[in-house]
Amino acid sequence: MQVAIVSDIHGNRQAFEAVLDDIDAEDVAERWCLGDLVGYGADPDACVELALARCDLVLAGNHDLAVTGALSVEEFSPGAAAAAKWTQKNIEARNLEALRALPPQSLDREVGLFHASPRDPIWEYVLSTLQAELCLDAQEHRVCLVGHSHVALAFTRRGEGVAGSACPDGSRADLTVGEWILNPGSVGQPRDGDPRAAWLLLDLETWTATWRRVDYDIPGAQAAIRAAGLPEALADRLEYGQ
Ligand code: ZN
Repeated sequence: MQVAIVSDIHGNRQAFEAVLDDIDAEDVAERWCLGDLVGYGADPDACVELALARCDLVLAGNHDLAVTGALSVEEFSPGAAAAAKWTQKNIEARNLEALRALPPQSLDREVGLFHASPRDPIWEYVLSTLQAELCLDAQEHRVCLVGHSHVALAFTRRGEGVAGSACPDGSRADLTVGEWILNPGSVGQPRDGDPRAAWLLLDLETWTATWRRVDYDIPGAQAAIRAAGLPEALADRLEYGQ
C-alpha cells in the first residue's frame, strides 16, 4: 500500500491544492496528515475542509491546538501568536469544532504518526541526531513520521549511532532495515530553503520513502496573507522557503 504523508499546511490553500493534485497522479491508497492545518496562512477554513474531505487520518498540531484554545499562545513567536489570534476570529465555528476533535498522535497504524515527536507529540522539534536518538529510544514503532519543524529530514539507526540527512526533492530512503524518523517537510510554509510545497510518498510494501516537492501559486498565497492583514513577514517568507 502506498500512502501520501502531508504536514504543516498552515492555511495555505494554494500549496495544499497543488500537493493534493500531485498526490492524485500517484497510486495512493490513503492520505495521512500530521497536523498544523491552520496558523500563518489566510485560508484556514479551506484547509480544514480539504484535509477532512481528502485525508484518511488527520492529526492536530500545536497551531491547531492554539486556535482551539487547548494550548496557550504564550510560547509562540509574535508572528505565530498574531496568526493564531487572527485564525480564532476568522475560522468558521464548525471547523473550529472539527479541530477540537483531532488527536496529536496515532499509534494504531504500521508506522507511528506524531505531529512533533514520539516523545512529545505537540512541541518537540526533532532536528538533531541527539534528539532523534532519544526519540528512537522512546518510539514503539520501527518507523515513525513527524512534522512540526517544516524541514524534510530522515534520521536512522542501524546498530550503533544515529545518522541524519536532509531530504531534497526526489530523495529516497530504503526503510527495510533499521529504525527511522521521517519528516515530509511542510506543505504550506517550508523552512528548508526550497519554497516549493513538500510531501512524502511512503510505500508500506517495499518500505520505501520518496520526498516530493511541488510548485504552487506562491504570489496567490502571499496576496491572501496581505489582504487578510496578517503580518507581512508571513507572506515574505513563503518565497524564500524560510
Ligand atoms: Zn507547523
